Amino acid sequence: MLALMQRTRVETVHLTVDPVTGLRAIIAVHAGRPLPAIGGCRYLAYPDDESALTDAIRLAETMTYKAALAGLPFNGGKAVILRGPHVEDRAKLFEAFGRFVDSLQGRYITAVDSGTSTADMDCVAQATKYVTSTTAAGDPSAHTALGVFAGIRSTAMARLGSDNLEGLRVAIQGLGHVGYSLAEHLYAAGAELLVCDTDAGKVQLAVEQFNARPIAGDALPTTPCDIFAPCANGGLLSPKTVAQLRCAAVAGSANAQLTSLEVADQLESRGILYAPDYVINAGGLIQVALQYQSVDLTAIAPHLSRIGARLTDIYSQAQATHRSPARVAQEIAERLVYGGEG
Ligand code: NAD
Repeated sequence: MLALMQRTRVETVHLTVDPVTGLRAIIAVHAGRPLPAIGGCRYLAYPDDESALTDAIRLAETMTYKAALAGLPFNGGKAVILRGPHVEDRAKLFEAFGRFVDSLQGRYITAVDSGTSTADMDCVAQATKYVTSTTAAGDPSAHTALGVFAGIRSTAMARLGSDNLEGLRVAIQGLGHVGYSLAEHLYAAGAELLVCDTDAGKVQLAVEQFNARPIAGDALPTTPCDIFAPCANGGLLSPKTVAQLRCAAVAGSANAQLTSLEVADQLESRGILYAPDYVINAGGLIQVALQYQSVDLTAIAPHLSRIGARLTDIYSQAQATHRSPARVAQEIAERLVYGGEG
């Protein structure tokens, strides 16, 4: 684990166990820049403690890159609460997590993430001020979706020569908070939607509301489309999946989509344009960061549209240097975070 911390430059990993509420939690803080770390709190079941630690550490590094590329004055952090088979009192569990966050005295600011809600953050806020995305602050997913939508336009422009989405076939994997909202924007822009979700109810709703075509989960990566938008779990883009893809570009919200950077090279050599996940999905982080800084959210629109401009810049640098956009994004992020020593 220490080797992984060294490799990712994660400075500290904090652990807690609370026998009263059953809380078992991890907070990873990245060493990147001398700024408070911000990042969501996951509440998920993991196969073992090591997987949870690995997830927190890897995502803390990504959050630093995401904040740096989005021009936010924050460092990266990530929290994980290990979900057991049963929780006695969810509100008390999140309040205990709030005390854990508070014990770091502002070095880490928490927010919603997979498995947590704004109501959970209200409980966290009972014990600490270092929290955002409470009910009053609002769920950031709609802003993530808007950022991904802007990113899909830039991706279509770069790969297909036009940002007019009318008639474009977009395959969305995962119709959750982000995926469903993204589907709404794409439908309004005239895109043709192919959708899949493990929750049949969400698929049915998308069929009714957006005239979407349902695709069986396994078949989605091999279904011909213009843009494939992964909006469910990370780790989807493995050598095996990428070999099967039949799309012109991959642009979706899921975190940690690539199983390795080499997979990005494979996408590149197949002529599939890849939108680096921590660039295209930064809308939610932008929302929580502005909210935490008490910036009026009417100022958010230019920040979100800059996601599209940033991707356009990354794509042109990638094209000029014959590299994958993922490698270019990483290089830019490392330069921003570590300066010359990247
Ligand atoms: P969510 O939990 O609301 O939605 C995920 C959806 O994917 C659910 O509907 C679920 O049923 C579906 N799903 C799960 N496994 C699936 C599978 N194998 N095939 C098809 N569907 C599957 O999550 P979300 O908040 O919408 O986030 C989606 C992704 O975007 C996650 O990877 C998350 O880390 C990332 N992300 C989210 C935000 C945000 O603001 N919510 C910000 C940045 C990144």
